[in-house]
Amino acid sequence: MENKEIFPVLDMLCDRRQEVYALIAPAFTGQFGKEASVGRLRTAFKRIGFSGMVEVAAFADILTLKEALEFDWHVKEEGDFQLTSCCCPVWIAMIRGIYHDLVGHVPGAVSPMIAAGRVVKKLHPNAVTVFIGPCMAKKKEAREEDIADAVDYVLTFQEVLDFFEAVNVNPAELPEDEREHSSKAGRIYARTSGVSEAVAETVAQLSPDKTIPVKAKQADGVKACRELIEQIKNKKTDGNFFEGMACSGGCVGGPKVLIPKEEGRAMVNEYGIAAQYRTPLENPYVRELLERLGFTDIMDFLEHSDLLTRTFA
Ligand code: SF4
Repeated sequence: MENKEIFPVLDMLCDRRQEVYALIAPAFTGQFGKEASVGRLRTAFKRIGFSGMVEVAAFADILTLKEALEFDWHVKEEGDFQLTSCCCPVWIAMIRGIYHDLVGHVPGAVSPMIAAGRVVKKLHPNAVTVFIGPCMAKKKEAREEDIADAVDYVLTFQEVLDFFEAVNVNPAELPEDEREHSSKAGRIYARTSGVSEAVAETVAQLSPDKTIPVKAKQADGVKACRELIEQIKNKKTDGNFFEGMACSGGCVGGPKVLIPKEEGRAMVNEYGIAAQYRTPLENPYVRELLERLGFTDIMDFLEHSDLLTRTFA
């Protein structure tokens, strides 16, 4: 056990009086065994006392659309550019702390983890939310003052695996619960270039006649992120959409993954290819979720909900 956050979560799960939801990071594929599908993992989380499991990738889907709309609105001519707000708190902290003059190029959006936590709490006001992923920086992100309402605890894959083993639950051997909720766009966020590909495809769908297409540049690893930002500042790049992830390979190379990053990347790609829906616009789970929140469709949600927004300035 590597962090004190596991103990209050264990208490709540044993007690069973509190609704507790697992929010599983998009990098989950393969981490608990190749056969541990999303449906089996959901069964496993319920067995150990969670009320349900939500794929954070479904919220990455929704935020892809937000990023794509922002790109469409703000990148209108050569020289305009956008830095992604999605996903990596180290990238965001670097821009806010060191390269503050670029903050205006980052859409005011929360990460998929925060969006997932806020939506679960909106639908289940007394629920406790527990994010599970490969990332230590997410523990700090969850406590940032303006977004501290969303996620109560952050655990790593290792902490959850320890718990599964302690109570003899093997997700790979369990029956399938309700299956996946995400479309392709959000599934590939877990590896470097995933955000860029998802946003580029969505911009092309949303605005096929746009004269300035997405020209994405990516960096993975802190050093590469800094180099990319220096290139932007010094106008040494022809890109107009910039994605940075602090870990080599993206979240599949995060500090608390349980499998090698190459294997994690291959599993994420496989899961992305297997998606029945390519975008949140096609995804019936997203539509159902928005109806439960009282929105008519995804554009209504993006335009009128403050669940996804954040101010970086
Ligand atoms: S790239 Fe690394 S630091 Fe950034 S969100 Fe993923 S695991 Fe966390």
